[in-house]
Amino acid sequence: MSKKRRIVIALGGNALGNTLPEQMTAVKITAKAIVDLIEEGCEVVVAHGNGPQVGMVNNAMIALTHEDEQQPNTPLSVCVAMSQAYIGYDLQNALREELLNRGITDIPVATMITQVRVDENDPAFLSPSKPIGKFVTAEQAKMMEENFHYVMKEDSGRGWRRVVASPKPVEIIEIGTIRTMVSSGDLVIACGGGGIPVTRQGNHLKGASAVIDKDFASCLLAKELDADYLIILTAVEKVALNFGKPEEQWLDEVSVKEAEQYIQEGHFAPGSMLPKVEAAMDFAASKPGRTALITLLEKSRDAVQGKTGTTFHL
Ligand code: ADP
Ligand code: MG
Repeated sequence: MSKKRRIVIALGGNALGNTLPEQMTAVKITAKAIVDLIEEGCEVVVAHGNGPQVGMVNNAMIALTHEDEQQPNTPLSVCVAMSQAYIGYDLQNALREELLNRGITDIPVATMITQVRVDENDPAFLSPSKPIGKFVTAEQAKMMEENFHYVMKEDSGRGWRRVVASPKPVEIIEIGTIRTMVSSGDLVIACGGGGIPVTRQGNHLKGASAVIDKDFASCLLAKELDADYLIILTAVEKVALNFGKPEEQWLDEVSVKEAEQYIQEGHFAPGSMLPKVEAAMDFAASKPGRTALITLLEKSRDAVQGKTGTTFHL
């Protein structure tokens, strides 16, 4: 029997929804797409984003400080940990149910609370740029800067928002355990929300006030697990040149070299498509035979069969 293709999937925002009821419904559809790949004969590892969820947890924890003076504010790293557990709970339940519905009884599903080390000297810490949480007034922003030492920025006339650093992932702390679980055939959910950002202080891992891009963390996970595919599932079926313009052109296959050129020409929006293309390129360039794919959740089976999506290769 040929070796199973190992796939790391990075789930985007549309795979999880924006509210508690939305997530409950979304994970059922997401679980179907993932189990489709398992039935296709793939070994799947799931990573995911957490934008709306970590924003929600962060806002809830701020509300707690208003209700109870004894409660200090919750570090962002703890909010990420909470979001991993909450999303993992919904996802692992939906996956278990979908597997059982299809008569697959020998694949245990589990979520790994994952810490990801970042470099405390990463230049991203000097220029926080990633907005999180809800919009607030200038007055509230001032209060949050004073009380919580947040960095607040005005966002194009819509109000003020907290911005945090988005450093590059360097090391997945729990990779050994993840590898063991994957090797024994478990369906593992890991690196949720890009992982809980930590820096190393001797033997101590200190939570960092940052969020790691889930596309970069998924790429690192795929490399560390020696995966054959990195599949980034998002809200578009393919990546485009001149996206949203009359001369828009959807891409089927891209070499690492071509991708570099397209990036230079500014085809991919920073904060949305750019990190995906960078992650896809990085994975494809890391070893011959590694392929990255960007496509829609609903199209993941077709994409693995080579029928759609944008494929990145050396
Ligand atoms: P996710 O939650 O999956 O990370 P994002 O919203 O961050 O999703 O990124 C995906 C979005 O990037 C697409 O829905 C699309 O609107 C946008 N986008 C920007 N540039 C491009 C491009 N060149 N080709 C395709 N989509 C693009
Ligand atoms: Mg995104």
